Amino acid sequence: MSEFKFKPFAEMTEADYAEIGFMSGLEIHQQLRTEKKLFCRCPAGCYSREYDAEILRHMRPTLSELGEYDGTALMEFKTKKEIIYQINRETVCTYEMDDTPPFFMDEEALDIALSIALLYNCNMVDELHIARKQYLDGSIPTGFQRTTIVGVNGHIPYKGRDIRIVQLGLEEDACREVSDVGHRRTYLTDRLGMPLIETVTAPDMRTPHEVAEVAQLCRRLVRSTGRVRTGIGAARMDTNVSVRGGTRVEIKGVPRIPRLPLLTYHEAMRQWNLLRLRDELGHRGIKPETFKAEFADVTALLKETGYTPLRDALARGFIINAVVLRGFGGLLDWQTQTNTRFAQEVSDRVRVVACLTTLPNIVNSDTTVEALTTSEWQRICDALRATKDDTVVVVWGDAADAKTGAQEIIIRAKEATIGVPSETRQALRDGTNGFERILPGPDRMYPDTDLPPKRVMRERLTALKLKLPKPIWEREAAYRELKVPEDCIKPLAMSRFAPLFERAVKEWKAEPVAAAVALIQYPKRLRGKGLDVGRLDGSALENVMRAFGEGKLLREALWPALEFISRKGTFDAGKWPPRAAVGEVTRAIKDGVKKLDGMKLHNPVRKGHVVMGMVMARLRGRAAGAVVAPKVEAALREKA
Ligand SMILES: [Zn+2]
Repeated sequence: MSEFKFKPFAEMTEADYAEIGFMSGLEIHQQLRTEKKLFCRCPAGCYSREYDAEILRHMRPTLSELGEYDGTALMEFKTKKEIIYQINRETVCTYEMDDTPPFFMDEEALDIALSIALLYNCNMVDELHIARKQYLDGSIPTGFQRTTIVGVNGHIPYKGRDIRIVQLGLEEDACREVSDVGHRRTYLTDRLGMPLIETVTAPDMRTPHEVAEVAQLCRRLVRSTGRVRTGIGAARMDTNVSVRGGTRVEIKGVPRIPRLPLLTYHEAMRQWNLLRLRDELGHRGIKPETFKAEFADVTALLKETGYTPLRDALARGFIINAVVLRGFGGLLDWQTQTNTRFAQEVSDRVRVVACLTTLPNIVNSDTTVEALTTSEWQRICDALRATKDDTVVVVWGDAADAKTGAQEIIIRAKEATIGVPSETRQALRDGTNGFERILPGPDRMYPDTDLPPKRVMRERLTALKLKLPKPIWEREAAYRELKVPEDCIKPLAMSRFAPLFERAVKEWKAEPVAAAVALIQYPKRLRGKGLDVGRLDGSALENVMRAFGEGKLLREALWPALEFISRKGTFDAGKWPPRAAVGEVTRAIKDGVKKLDGMKLHNPVRKGHVVMGMVMARLRGRAAGAVVAPKVEAALREKA
């Protein structure tokens, strides 16, 4: 491998990412805005922390049809978790709890998923096959998620090339985690079973910034349908990253797009540094076949220790194990990510697999952190016959956890001789990532025997195609032609108002700039005033746009009209106050000029603006600014 050394995030160039062979793809989960859940008739999108009952479950691995245990299943079993489900009778029925078979798929959800797959230019499947995807962390009580592939092999244009869409699936959402402490994990079940789509891109992104840009593009594309949920938790992303010689590693649960660049940068850095670590081990003659490590109980040697975490452990009757990693001297301190050392990878594993969640959960002889005394380390090293070429890692817990912990330290250290382990990782707040779980095997999908295949009729697709929004990139180009202000173009292209805007301009000849500003900027301002912009929908807003297009409403009336709708929910152009008569305008100007006398102006040149503001506010959209302005100027000139 090349000698490339990672630079700080801001200094990395496209050429640097090419040098390390950066590749990244996205898996985007987006909730759909439906009334019901996907496979039962419970309501979707009703969240509450209230619950009427709790159910306790234990996870147990079973042999697959091939007679093998799944790696993830075994890991979850090693953790010996108790899972608690909190259940609210309003949002969950016996289906979600695995007591009754599924109902037929929600047709509304399927329509939305098909439409989005069409937008992604996918090849559509003609028969939907429902599969079960294994979920062993307890977030789905049945241990699997029902999922179906709706389209494959799509593509979207990006920077003059295509980003490939591998597949688009329709599936059920999982539970919301409430807490995960020690051996007990608690979930809320209201979100369970809600429909969402999973969009999987090929690893076609070449820099961390591209990952974020493509995520943004996908987000805007699905939002342009107006039929997906928005807000916290409605869209969640996983991203996979690999570098040349590395392993495809998935980072789960990225909550926001702006966090993608730093996260994917750090994963690339971690993999690169783990590969360098492997090479360093190789130089020392440590390969998978020559790797040596063992552990021993050193509780008796540390009875008098002054190190607080160990004193607490001893007080609780815990066991202290020490692991010797032969030839690893200094390597627990090897940098993996910004401010993160290899010791963190080991600690993460111990935390997740042995459930030793109180930190620190290990201490190692390479560390510069003050922990054990020199003589304590010496006693441990003597017991394990460790030399200065070796590293010693200490772990503590009850007898079972301390043993699992020691074994896991050995497993993780041995993986360092191979390179980058297959695992899923979680996004951390500081832009780095931490271990989540061992990567599930490829055999985690199997057919669902409860539901028959479902045909997707050609007529259905044809009908959906007719209602499909124009792709956002086409809309954006068209809006630019119409001279829509730059800051309105992107939001308008993905807005639920886009079809109305297009109709207003085309059918009713509305002036595009004013119409775009009214549909994009005014709702924001109205929300800022605490008004209900949810009312800006349907016929009322359509009436405003039509009246504006047909010349019955001035551009200046758009703001008061939208404000009226967000207060009253309706709009009738016939009942809207008529344009101000000439006399009324003249009176308003005269009063405005008079008021000016009582005011102290810092800038006398602004007189015109001040009077204009007063007049327009008084006439509330019933006079055109272009008509009023010269009259104000004239009145001021006359006075002077
Ligand atoms: Zn239900």
